[in-house]
Amino acid sequence: MNNSQIYATITEKIIANLETAGSWMKLWQVPSPVSMNGHYYRGINRLVLSSDPYKSRVYGTFQQIRSNGGQVRKGEKSTIVVFWKTGIEQDEATGVTKKTFLLRFYHVFNSEQADFDEQGKQKIAQLQSLVDEKVNDEHLEAESIIEGYAGRPEIIFSDKDDRAFYAPVADLISVPDKKYFTTSSAFYRVLFHELCHSVGHPKRLNRFDGMSNSYGDIPYSKEELIAELGSSFLAGIAHLDMDIRNSAAYIKGWASALRDNQKWIMWAAARAEKSADYILGIDSSYAASEEKTKAEATSEVPVLEPVLEDSPF
Ligand SMILES: [Zn+2]
Repeated sequence: MNNSQIYATITEKIIANLETAGSWMKLWQVPSPVSMNGHYYRGINRLVLSSDPYKSRVYGTFQQIRSNGGQVRKGEKSTIVVFWKTGIEQDEATGVTKKTFLLRFYHVFNSEQADFDEQGKQKIAQLQSLVDEKVNDEHLEAESIIEGYAGRPEIIFSDKDDRAFYAPVADLISVPDKKYFTTSSAFYRVLFHELCHSVGHPKRLNRFDGMSNSYGDIPYSKEELIAELGSSFLAGIAHLDMDIRNSAAYIKGWASALRDNQKWIMWAAARAEKSADYILGIDSSYAASEEKTKAEATSEVPVLEPVLEDSPF
């Protein structure tokens, strides 16, 4: 799954959550889900599996659960996860080989949707403790995104100011020090938000047309939508804990100031995508041509039909 597809899925999820989004909630840590084979679900699969209501972070396909002494209960609904399978294909006429991409779908169940024998229960407990240990190991990716933002503004980690803001004139970000946040994911989400604002600076993507260049946060709903969506996108790339409900509540707050808010969210998502790519140092035109190749390569694959087979995760 490439960046554009990740961005599109996150935007869709946020829009879907707008209806039910309540008030702005505290961010908390949702550990990465793991398969019965001990592989961690990442990226979009993690996002999808993190929004379900189960306490257990252990998942498996019907077969995986069965071979671990479990039985999925009747009537339980599966969640679909996706996996890109790469291969090499040779053109019979020309002999030219090319790389192929197949999008595979797998149906997985949470361990709480199944009954396990004693051995199975032990295995689930082992996997769950692996997940709990892993939680704090994951912020290297977030750090490397910040380090990799070429020509980034100065960032102040403040002990005095409890606000997070981007000041366009000084081209400066100020955020409360990491120790003041409930989780480090929350800290990076806020910092990503401010980084996305900074991409609008005239010397970068020059997005602040018609906005005042005052110190402090940029007081415009549309710019807030861009920054918050961009922050969600970068959090998705960094595999941070995704609390979509939180972002949806925040975005709903700003979007309600705008009429026809779905349209504005799509508008902002396009700009947020450019901001995230800018920070990641991705040339959008290159990404677009790569996407085309991938679409061509998969054109004969009926991607909407789930492929039911056991998962390699
Ligand atoms: Zn802001």
